[in-house]
Amino acid sequence: MEMKMAENYWYANLKKEVEESIRNIPDFPKEGIQFKDITPLFKNVSTFEKLMSYYSTSLAKKGINKIVCVDARGFIFGSVLASKMGIPFVIARKEGKLPAKTISHTYSLEYGEATLEIHMDDIKSTDNVLIVDDLLATGGTIDAVVNLVQKLGGTVHGCWFLIELSFLEGRSKIVKNVSNYDVKFYSLLDY
Ligand code: AMP
Repeated sequence: MEMKMAENYWYANLKKEVEESIRNIPDFPKEGIQFKDITPLFKNVSTFEKLMSYYSTSLAKKGINKIVCVDARGFIFGSVLASKMGIPFVIARKEGKLPAKTISHTYSLEYGEATLEIHMDDIKSTDNVLIVDDLLATGGTIDAVVNLVQKLGGTVHGCWFLIELSFLEGRSKIVKNVSNYDVKFYSLLDY
């Protein structure tokens, strides 16, 4: 009981520390968007370290054997997590950046379209993947990555974000398209 209370206290403190390192920028990149600027977190060395250690420990026994990091802020969190967990990471990039043979998925943005690509030899049928990005908004980006991982025969264990804008219901978009009905979601902050 006391142990549990100590854990809850520690988690609440971590949350508070991280929250204090996130800067809200109104009307960026366009009017009406509340942009969550995570760059101050990277200057807060002990908070970033605590955050990554917390998740690498709590995710260690989930059977995840690969992390897919999403261009570009997902690279930061995903690569550190993978390194701490002792597993490989691969990158899903915007169109035209990856040099070897790729598969791609095009998805709709608020205005227009975007395409994400992944190297074909980066995912195997034995892979149980955690997809990592900084923030979940409408879910279009992550849904595209889910699509790429599944096309290459991998299983999506779950998705990790630092921040979720749950009022946009991004999770439901992902759940609809993931073939693993037990897909997990991990996130620290919700706005
Ligand atoms: P979505 O595809 O709508 O889930 O958008 C997710 C991507 O857009 C993530 O890679 C985020 O980095 C970025 N993004 C969307 N909305 C915001 C926001 N309010 N603040 C910061 N980044 C955002």
